[in-house]
Amino acid sequence: MTTKTTCWCGNTILLNYSPDYALCDKCNSLVRKIWPDEEPARVSAPDHFGRIPADLKEDELRARLQKDMSTFIPRALGALLKFCLPPASVFELGSAHGGFVAVLRAAGYNATGFEAGASLAEFALKTFDVQSLGGAFESQKIEKGSLDALVALNSLERMENPAETMRLALELLKPGGILLLQTPCFESEKTFEELLLAEHPILPNFDEPQRMRFFSTQSLEKFFHELGWNVSSEAPMTFGDYNMFAVVSQGEVGILSQEESEKTLETSLSGLLTLALVNARATADEMQFHAEGRQKTIHEQTAGLENLRNIIQAQGAEVEMLRKVAQERLELIQKLDEALKNATRK
Ligand SMILES: [Zn+2]
Repeated sequence: MTTKTTCWCGNTILLNYSPDYALCDKCNSLVRKIWPDEEPARVSAPDHFGRIPADLKEDELRARLQKDMSTFIPRALGALLKFCLPPASVFELGSAHGGFVAVLRAAGYNATGFEAGASLAEFALKTFDVQSLGGAFESQKIEKGSLDALVALNSLERMENPAETMRLALELLKPGGILLLQTPCFESEKTFEELLLAEHPILPNFDEPQRMRFFSTQSLEKFFHELGWNVSSEAPMTFGDYNMFAVVSQGEVGILSQEESEKTLETSLSGLLTLALVNARATADEMQFHAEGRQKTIHEQTAGLENLRNIIQAQGAEVEMLRKVAQERLELIQKLDEALKNATRK
């Protein structure tokens, strides 16, 4: 185990944030305090790159693949279709079980993946006939300036040296190429105690030792700005409530219409099937979004009713108290009246 005290931005004076993470207040990133031992010369390493731990058993990996196929893979494809259509060349950084590369190919993209975990790469080959590039990232064989898009889903935060890996990866893009990125969003204005109190959904991510850092929206922008790239503010958020989703480019990025992607995919059966998968996920996400909105309204209304009930109860208690006081006064008046009558009779 190695103690890590340097942020990606070079700052070595980090503040304590949580039991496992230190805060860099120069760029608003978190850095894991202790890192697994690593071959220091490598830009990327098996346990530090992919979104899935390399030591998962095959049945666990298959279960994960099934979940990914109905959740984040159609979401990621839906996002990619907004910026770049088949037969564009796409390269996934950290391709894990190969499911996303396989779906990209079914959609008609010329897709390849990089996966440093040997057992994951073997699984991708066996299951999807997807040959993943592996080993050290700096020695992979893709020609510079040859790709239309890079995709990095849940992998930036696992890179040991993200600036160097991203610099090398971005060199592979053609002019006008984009990087599609998803990574958990660290809300730097919140303390760890506030996250605990709110049972924030990002918290389970803090228990994964492979998550070496967490970027905030500010640090993500700074990170790519220093590499000479921009994070597009046009990027739609499609990955749930604690992730951020970004499109990284050097110029303006145009958003393609749904009709354009449908026209491209509906020319083959595999294209139509991937389109159906993307649309089914989008519909389910929309329904869930509305259901959550309604649930929130019901919670608010229930809280309002409860509040009203408390007010009525409090007012009832006050009325009861006033009634008692009035009763006591009445009794006192009656006693005084009787005493006065007695005194008059005497
Ligand atoms: Zn920093």
